[in-house]
Amino acid sequence: MSDKKQDDITDIRRDIDDVDAEILRLLAERRSHSLRIAREKGRADQPSRDQLREEDLIADRISSALEHDLDSGLIIRLWREIVDDSVRVQQESLGRGDQDQRTITVAIQGIQGSYSHLASEQYHKARGFETSYVKSVTFADAITRVQEGEADVAVLPIENTTSGAISEVYDLLLDSGLHFVGDVKYRVRHCLLGLSGASIADVKRVYCHPQAIAQCTDFLAGLEGAEVVYFSDTALSGKMIKDLNDPSVAAIASEDAARLFGLEVLKTGIANRAENFTRFVVVSPEPAAVLDGVPSKTSVVMAVGNHPGALMDALATFRSADINLVKLESRPIPHNPQEELFYLDFAGNVSDESVAGVLESLTKQVRFLKVLGSYPSRDLRPDTRSKSVERIEPEGRDELVVPVLSKAKPSGYKLGSRGHKQDNTVVEVGGVRVGGDDLVLIAGPCAVESWDQVTETARVVRDAGGTLLRGGCFKPRTSPYSFQGLGFEGLDMLAEAGKTFGLPVVTEVISPEDVEQVARKADVLQIGTRNMQNFSLLQAVGRTHRPVLLKRGMSSSLDELLQAAEYVLAEGNQQVILCERGIRTFERSTRNTLDLSAVPVLKSRSHLPVVVDPSHAAGVRDLVPPMALASQAIGADGIMVEIHPDPENALSDGPQSLHLDQYRALARALGLGGRGNGNGRSLE
Ligand code: PEP
Ligand code: MN
Repeated sequence: MSDKKQDDITDIRRDIDDVDAEILRLLAERRSHSLRIAREKGRADQPSRDQLREEDLIADRISSALEHDLDSGLIIRLWREIVDDSVRVQQESLGRGDQDQRTITVAIQGIQGSYSHLASEQYHKARGFETSYVKSVTFADAITRVQEGEADVAVLPIENTTSGAISEVYDLLLDSGLHFVGDVKYRVRHCLLGLSGASIADVKRVYCHPQAIAQCTDFLAGLEGAEVVYFSDTALSGKMIKDLNDPSVAAIASEDAARLFGLEVLKTGIANRAENFTRFVVVSPEPAAVLDGVPSKTSVVMAVGNHPGALMDALATFRSADINLVKLESRPIPHNPQEELFYLDFAGNVSDESVAGVLESLTKQVRFLKVLGSYPSRDLRPDTRSKSVERIEPEGRDELVVPVLSKAKPSGYKLGSRGHKQDNTVVEVGGVRVGGDDLVLIAGPCAVESWDQVTETARVVRDAGGTLLRGGCFKPRTSPYSFQGLGFEGLDMLAEAGKTFGLPVVTEVISPEDVEQVARKADVLQIGTRNMQNFSLLQAVGRTHRPVLLKRGMSSSLDELLQAAEYVLAEGNQQVILCERGIRTFERSTRNTLDLSAVPVLKSRSHLPVVVDPSHAAGVRDLVPPMALASQAIGADGIMVEIHPDPENALSDGPQSLHLDQYRALARALGLGGRGNGNGRSLE
């Protein structure tokens, strides 16, 4: 090609570049007008989408296009995209509620120029928001600022295409009570920054954030002789080398950071992969209001049962509802590393019928389920498919359901009701199945008193065919002068005894602040009769991944018990075991009156397993065995009894505690022990 021709082509390409730049500028201008309309519609409370007007508009553009000799097919495709974008912008904006609040305070980890800051700018500017920032040194602090109302939202990195999930943020968000209201994929372009005039060959030290190091390992490996120093913040590392004023020191940060701190980009694009995206989530104290028809994503976290196919079954629920899963990430449960939590993102909004149906089905299958939020997402295409969804029909009823009672309408509870789930729930604790085919025997002292007491008891519990070891460490005593339990020291003993004899342990927790620490060691969290309506405690155990043994309040109705259980279920924890332990009546011959009819009534109203504690009902040990047998006969899934090596000298509830021999005899009478209860462990 001649030089002249080459020059002409270069000129023409420049003209095309100019036209494209103008098209982009006009698209941005068009979008800003769409936002103005959204604001007006918000004030006038008008619907955000007017399909007839959209079709008219496209028809109008086609006739104009013909005047310019443009292909109508191209115009249809282009304007459909433009109109879709405009609708999306308007709907996202309308979903935000306050149309006049166009300034938003954002908490980020890092300073100006950090990737969090840049991602937040990308996200908020595209939605017509002005931003101001609250800057934190740690992710935890950024979350706290939002919780405490200093910032409206936080923008936090959650995963990267090269280095994967940012687990710290996941763990912090799980317990934060904040909702996901948006996400943004930010294209990260890591650069090596240095003082102006510095050269790569002279670099002896590189400061950077651990995430950036993980994403640039290939480049760093080639930087011979240079020391890599971890730094808490990408942008701050830029500021730091500026302050050090040493040409042998470099940092990994963005081009914006270079501009901000007057540094030079020594090399650009140093990440292992050219396509390096970090996904950020926007979290807020209030859930997002996502309007119908806006392409949206929902993020949930769940824990499934520990048996083959449990995850498959849960995922199949999405497939049958034709819901597109866009992400599945697994994390060990904090403080319970044997079990995994699964983080899922899927297309859809909790207010969609199909999504609500899937979530409802999942609560019947999984051990824990929490919705982190539904939010508009630009990663997704608008869903034009028909919304009709195949619903999963519950399977046949269990024969234990009393037909005439099951017609009772649940009041004040749903997740725990038979209407919600017809199959019985089996709560798995270690290898023990509560609510399965075999009777579960829970035994142990009222209170853990000493290492010798708890181990001696645990051995007998196990040898006689008991399946769970109980023991109180925090005792809710009627009198403040009575023995209050050994606390966490007692819990260590109980957990150790449980491990020694292969028995999962049950212990009571009495205060919301202790829940997390107790849940680290206890396999089942007991809520005592005096706390059945301690709603903050119920919510706290609902946020854990441990099964909950919920005792009936001594003056509570069965519906009140089921509503209390609902507090736990509604927080996400689906593993609740109900416990009848006697109620207060006018009868004074026994400590309480065992309400045996509670078992079939609860079973007819709820799918949750029911155990009976005859010890606290009777108050005297000789009445315990016959009432335990009656409980078995009436269909209880388990029996919980207090036993003690020396009941006469027990520090609490001695009169109702069985002697160890009495316990052995009871276990035999219940058909446990050597007679092959599937739940029992092999005997020595
Ligand atoms: C217990 O099981 O030790 C206990 C205190 O029970 P309740 O809450 O039923 O009195
Ligand atoms: Mn007791």
